[in-house]
Amino acid sequence: MMALARREFHLFQAAGKDFLYLVPSAAVFALDAPTSAVLRAVSESTLSDEGVVGALAGPFDAPTVRAAIAELLEVRAIGYEQQPAEQPVRVLPMMPFPLTTMVLNVTNQCNLACTYCYEYGEDKIVDTENGKQSKFMAESTALESVEFLLRESGRVAHLTFFGGETLLNFPVLKSTIAYARRRAAEVGKEIDFSLTTNATLLKPEIIEFLAENRVGVTISIDGPREMQDKFRVFHNGAGSYDVVAPKIKELLRVHRSRPIGARVTLTSDTLDITKIYRHLTEEIGFWEVGFAPVTTSPNQQYAIGERGFDRMLGQFRALASEFLEHVSANKHHGFSNVKDTLEEVHKGVSKAYPCGAGLGLLGVSTDGDVALCHRFAGSDAHKFGTVRDGIDRDVQTAFLQQHHIADKTDCSKCWARPLCSGGCYHEAHVRYGTTRRPNLHYCEWIRGWTDTCLQIYGELSERNPDFLARFDREEAKAETAL
Ligand code: SF4
Ligand code: SF4
Repeated sequence: MMALARREFHLFQAAGKDFLYLVPSAAVFALDAPTSAVLRAVSESTLSDEGVVGALAGPFDAPTVRAAIAELLEVRAIGYEQQPAEQPVRVLPMMPFPLTTMVLNVTNQCNLACTYCYEYGEDKIVDTENGKQSKFMAESTALESVEFLLRESGRVAHLTFFGGETLLNFPVLKSTIAYARRRAAEVGKEIDFSLTTNATLLKPEIIEFLAENRVGVTISIDGPREMQDKFRVFHNGAGSYDVVAPKIKELLRVHRSRPIGARVTLTSDTLDITKIYRHLTEEIGFWEVGFAPVTTSPNQQYAIGERGFDRMLGQFRALASEFLEHVSANKHHGFSNVKDTLEEVHKGVSKAYPCGAGLGLLGVSTDGDVALCHRFAGSDAHKFGTVRDGIDRDVQTAFLQQHHIADKTDCSKCWARPLCSGGCYHEAHVRYGTTRRPNLHYCEWIRGWTDTCLQIYGELSERNPDFLARFDREEAKAETAL
């Protein structure tokens, strides 16, 4: 008789039930009483099918236990000891992989000098002052980039403007949008636009333009005055809060065609997440707020250390509970980190690569070099070609071969890998000097946060399944557009 053995899953509780997050398939599976009992029996002792039937003979009859075993075998939560467990397999995506998002660095200059900025601070990898890249993208390069995007994309293309401070090159941004709209219509593709800005340069005509053109806007802002002014300062050291707050309020008042989100960089000095969230949603009026820990080497004083990650997790959990209560009562809540993870869980996302960089997403530098992503734009590290000559497929394929999850030994045993897959390449480059290493310094945080999001997913599957079903409807809508 072959003995049963547990396979790879993460067990969590929600809504008074056991749930499994099945690692190879990235599916969530709710357990009823017999499947829970079988799973515990198999996890605790070495038993054959009939051994499990015998062990559970009190509470459950034999056909119920056998059906539960069959169900767990089917979803690969258990298997037979003699049969090898599944390992991540190195299957490369089909090439050429369509480009979905092009991030255009229209300038590498900024009118702020945020202490922690990867582009200007001590962690920068691109020399924006003395390097060979132009400080501003020329209109001709931007238009060539549009042609490149339309050549390389599928039916739908996303064009994101980035910097430095994006709005320092507003004239090029404006003409690029008009050109891209016209060219996309000519070649029968759909295109949409977004940008990230520090908001310092917003003024009525820019706001009107963004609203009229349905440009998605993300504002980099760190919270109330005392937090914003700690790091987000002008070159003379003056804080930026008093400059940006009224401009953002005006943007939110006028630009109603797309939800506008805030993106907060967390440091060891600015970790009061609930306070930041309240300020940005209630005082300023943002619809959504997303948080990301600062990317930096560990010796920076503002780097988030181990205790900081614990504190951050506690705060994320508190705000996530509030999200759950709101959404259970069918009310909006703008903590976008939870929503984004719930969407990935719901869609069964299982990543071979941590993000779209180098695959569906590429960055373009001011001179038209194509890079792994916007954070590498202009650096010689991971240059993927130019907008004139196209993507160097050999470089791209070699990158994808070297960075597959199957080659990240620590990750290949981790239950959180379908969603994490080793984390941001740029962060790994800054921390460890290579994009190939997983970000093992934050695994506890990632697993803790993923567990929280799974619990919320389980709760919502009982309390408001329609909220989760919305992700399917949005996907169906996007597919119809394709
Ligand atoms: S980086 Fe850490 S948390 Fe992420 S998949 Fe690898 S081992 Fe897991
Ligand atoms: S590598 Fe990092 S910065 Fe670049 S797209 Fe991926 S997550 Fe973002």
